[in-house]
Amino acid sequence: MRPFDYQRPDSLKHGSQLTASGDSMAIAGGTNLLDLMKLQVEAPSRLVDIGRLGMTSIEDMDDGGLRIGALATNTATANHARVRADYPVLSRAILAGATQQLRNKATTGGNLCQRTRCFYFTNIDQPCNKREPGSGCGAIPGIARLHAVLGTSRECIATYPGDMAVAMSALDATVEIAGEGGDSRSVPVRDFHRLPGDTPWKDNVLEDGEIITGVILPAPVPGKQLYRKVRERSSYAFALVSIAAIVALEDGRFTRADLAFGGLAHKPWHDARLPGLLIGKEPSEALFDKAADLLLEDAQGYGENDFKIPLTRSTLKAVLAEATETEL
Ligand code: SF4
Repeated sequence: MRPFDYQRPDSLKHGSQLTASGDSMAIAGGTNLLDLMKLQVEAPSRLVDIGRLGMTSIEDMDDGGLRIGALATNTATANHARVRADYPVLSRAILAGATQQLRNKATTGGNLCQRTRCFYFTNIDQPCNKREPGSGCGAIPGIARLHAVLGTSRECIATYPGDMAVAMSALDATVEIAGEGGDSRSVPVRDFHRLPGDTPWKDNVLEDGEIITGVILPAPVPGKQLYRKVRERSSYAFALVSIAAIVALEDGRFTRADLAFGGLAHKPWHDARLPGLLIGKEPSEALFDKAADLLLEDAQGYGENDFKIPLTRSTLKAVLAEATETEL
């Protein structure tokens, strides 16, 4: 690991100022960043430890929603009484990720900012446009089993690795962000992460000096909430495909179908066309196939990950069948 300065700001504004220069990085739980520093994938000249700036509370909102502080741990969030009761898809998604020890340290903000686990990204001897712009993408002709099939570019086919944000996308949550000048802005979770395009090194919309302060969940909605994660072993593995679903029926027809997908793209994947297809219709295997057709119409495999396309279809059908108690 390379030498670096370590500073602990005494306020959010001070923290934003310290992280405003491009080679400074904020750290909280450190469950991803410290690994990347040891591997020399990240080499900040200054670490700004925001871990003592509060932001740990989980609070009811006046409109019935819930605000989760950026430094609330994954364990605290997953076990919070209201999250378990009103947002079980979020609790299940968090508990499907990492290990208990990691969840005890990992924070809401850090989880949103975690980086891809692409083998080429974490190995500094390999080409990777995300780590070293212009060096090429080792995964496209190489080991791509975990990689994306939607929203890829010629520059990068990495996936966003997390679970929590997939559930937050289905819930249509909003990220609160504080800026260097003390200003703040809100970004829907669905727009927080970026597709790789020509700038794969930019994972999300955060600018230098911006710090996540919390995530707002809207007031709970009626319906069944499911999180299904398909992975290569039953714990401590990233998703090959995951689906967060909030589904409601009335008089035998869909009235809600909020779906988000992990393991498929550089961001939690949300396709706004799916509710339009499903709502008002009676659940059936034929309808579920149409939803999969729509979701996957632009999907592209890269050899090793071709299997994700049929796997996504079968997982989506299974989730919709379970949510609607439909036989396949
Ligand atoms: Fe790097 Fe992205 Fe290619 Fe992986 S997929 S090697 S992260 S450019």
